[in-house]
Amino acid sequence: MRNNGREGYTFIRQYAKGTLPPPMIFMPQKLEKFEDISQTLPTTLLQERELRYLKLWREALRTEIHHTRVQVITTALRTYPICPVCRKPLFNGVEVHEALITRGDVQGLPFAKRMQIFCAQNCVEVHANDCHMRAQFYPRAKRFVAKYLIYWNGEQAILDFLHYMNDIGVTKAKEVEREIECWKPSLAQLA
Ligand SMILES: [Zn+2]
Repeated sequence: MRNNGREGYTFIRQYAKGTLPPPMIFMPQKLEKFEDISQTLPTTLLQERELRYLKLWREALRTEIHHTRVQVITTALRTYPICPVCRKPLFNGVEVHEALITRGDVQGLPFAKRMQIFCAQNCVEVHANDCHMRAQFYPRAKRFVAKYLIYWNGEQAILDFLHYMNDIGVTKAKEVEREIECWKPSLAQLA
């Protein structure tokens, strides 16, 4: 048991041994119904509706990834994921980071396309401040995050996500795919 100053924790054996989690399947988010109603709204209400939808969606995504990427258990039997940047448990001070395709990459696209970056294939929880900043700007941390995403999703789901993003006009997706291809030797030893 390690001690984090609050309560001890240990890595869960299944993952510590290097067993891969079951692969995920990438599914684009369907927003047809949302858009049908949106067409009838004036711009200000539409923007407000989009912001609300986005907030709820991100909360749901955060809950989902927090509970499916569990890697440590505490002495009080609470479970947590670990941060892909510093490898320490995400007890608190946690933020969601859009990793492979960022908000900047989808700027200017319609809402239904911009929303697609908020999925398990693109998002990780990281510690706020230092870790989040490293994940955004440091190539080494970006590689750790990509490796983490591939570990939890399987490579195919990540590639399916990137291909889909490319199909809907996000030019950055091809570049990310090439980057991942270059990182392959280090990505091979997952977990
Ligand atoms: Zn961290």
